[in-house]
Parts: sequence; structure tokens; C-alpha cells
Amino acid sequence: MTTSTLLPVIDTHAHLYLCKQPLDELLDQARQNNVCYMVNVALGIASTQTSWEMSRQYPQLIPTAGIHPCEVKELSRISELEALLTQHSFRAIGEIGLDYYHTADTREEQIRMFCHQLELARQHNLPVIIHNRESDTDMRAILKEFSDVTKVIHCFSSGQDFIEDVANENTYFSFTGTITYSQKSATLDALKDLPLDRIMIETDSPYLTPTRHKGAENQPAFVREMADRIAEIKSLPIETVIEATTRTACQFFNIALPAEFA
Ligand SMILES: [Zn+2]
Repeated sequence: MTTSTLLPVIDTHAHLYLCKQPLDELLDQARQNNVCYMVNVALGIASTQTSWEMSRQYPQLIPTAGIHPCEVKELSRISELEALLTQHSFRAIGEIGLDYYHTADTREEQIRMFCHQLELARQHNLPVIIHNRESDTDMRAILKEFSDVTKVIHCFSSGQDFIEDVANENTYFSFTGTITYSQKSATLDALKDLPLDRIMIETDSPYLTPTRHKGAENQPAFVREMADRIAEIKSLPIETVIEATTRTACQFFNIALPAEFA
């Protein structure tokens, strides 16, 4: 590995508290791969608390607060989320959104919970991390209502028409290991045309292990694989992709720019 491939990268989406590997090993491997920050994304009230506590101990972990659509049973506990947002300085609200793949029968509650959390993002002036699975139609409509909120569509897996509908100066798209799984797809075509300054990279650890590490649990150290794949798809030098995505992530999550790019 050359020095230039070890420019600092940021894993903008991981759930470190769900990984089976010991945390000190994960952080050590991240350090060796110059993953300078990891956004430790919450999925509900308990993991919001956990994400906050972990960030106190490890400053390279960026805390978020939010309730995932598959945890819609926590809709009645949203006041607890509001209290946590008032108590602590989270850097984003997420992950929040819609998921009709796992739980289509809770559509209305999901929409209510999603919109409530988008309102909280407005109130607290925080960016949001959005989960969108088999819910493109409702998602497009809701994002139009909240076009002023800064947001990233995480694990982007829709196509060009979705981007055209939601794109504005506050909207970003983040890519996971899924872009390493196939050679041809609507998402890869969309990625090819998407401006580099709209893109972030993530692992979604412990899920979605990139192809080159197939069989292993996913971890933030693997985030460089996504930069590599984007460079290949867009026919750009990997250094260009790393610098652009790291700068975007720093701005999005309000993180100090690493010395190499300052
Ligand atoms: Zn996730």
C-alpha cells in the first residue's frame, strides 16, 4: 500500500456497538488504515445513549441520535429522544427514515416518526442520516417538504430518477459495500453521473461487507474499499475521491478537517 492511499478517510456510517469483534481491535485496525473518524449511528433510544457514551471515551467516534423505522415501536418514546438531544451535543439525527421491506404494515407510524424526527433536526439545526428501503415514493414526497434540512441518503441503492427528484444543495448520497457486489446496476449508473461533491462513503458495519473481505464481519477499516470502487466507476484517482469525500463528511458532521487537507 502506498502512502497516498493512506490519506485520512471517514466512515460516515457504522454501528460499532453491534460488531462482534472487540472495540479496541476495531479501533486499532481503523487507526492502521487511517480511518480518522467513524460516525457511530444510533438505531433507537438505547443505542442513542450508547453512541453518546462511546463518543465521550473515544473522540474519533461521532455520536448520533435517532430511531430507525424498524424500531417504530419506540414512537411512544420520542420524548426521550427529545430529552437526549437537549442534554447532549449530537452531530446528526439518524438513522431515521422508511423501511417497507422489513415492516410495510407500519407505514403510517413510520411516516409520523420520520417527520417528527425531521422536525427535531430543524429545531436543533442538525443534519440527518436517512434509511430508505423500498419506500422511494413516500420518501420523495417527504424530502420535498423538508428540502431545507441537510441530509444524506445512506446506503444509496436507488437510481438516477430518484436523485433528480430529491437533489438540492442540502442533499448528499452515501455508498456502502453494495457498490462492490455488482458490475452493472441502476445505482452504479447513477453514481457515475453524480457530482463528486455530493458523495460520502460508509461501511454500515457490521453489515454489508465489501466483496474483497467476503466472509469477514464488516468493520470501519474496510471503508477505503468504497473510495476505491468509486474511483474505478468514475475513472478518477483514488486520492481525489478520498479528499473530496473526507472534506464533505467533515463539513456535514461538523468535524475538524484532518491536517492533510486543512
Ligand atoms: Zn445503518
